[in-house]
Amino acid sequence: MNLESYIRDIPDFPKEGIVFKDITPLLASPEGFRQAIDTIAEQFADAGVTKVLGAEARGFIFGGALAYKLGAGFIPARKPGKLPWQTTKAEYALEYGIDTLEMHLDAIGPDDVVLIVDDVLATGGTAAAKTELAECTGARIAGLAFLIELDFLGGRGKLTDHKVVSLIHVT
Ligand code: AMP
Repeated sequence: MNLESYIRDIPDFPKEGIVFKDITPLLASPEGFRQAIDTIAEQFADAGVTKVLGAEARGFIFGGALAYKLGAGFIPARKPGKLPWQTTKAEYALEYGIDTLEMHLDAIGPDDVVLIVDDVLATGGTAAAKTELAECTGARIAGLAFLIELDFLGGRGKLTDHKVVSLIHVT
């Protein structure tokens, strides 16, 4: 089945004017979830990925499955104060204000090759923050992978130095 058919559009969620891309039908489908993970994994099969970096909460789901599939480790990026050990942080702009993502200081090192994963690429702010977290360690970025890219928001423009793979494009 077409991957797009597993995504449910929810108009005006969480606020008016936003069309929320609900990925839970895809997660609930053994075929859909497997197809999404396998298709992304194929694109990075020869990249020598050692760590997959994903942010809470939906990045954990795709990141964990991809790490397993690629034979890599999984590294969680989290909101401030959630990780128990020493952290490094990156800030990114929200519509109103600034948010922060943290990662354990020793989670990624200069010998690592990192794949950054999330469900949706929108403005690219969170993806750029994760890229910064990984690059600060001296690691190499294999690329970034998304289930859905909202092309009209131009998030890819913040990630120009890297390979960006999106399975579904919303124009
Ligand atoms: P951004 O930093 O603007 O690229 O936003 C990306 C993050 O916000 C991702 O973690 C997505 O899960 C979430 N997100 C942004 N827009 C949407 C949307 N229309 N539907 C679902 N999730 C979204």
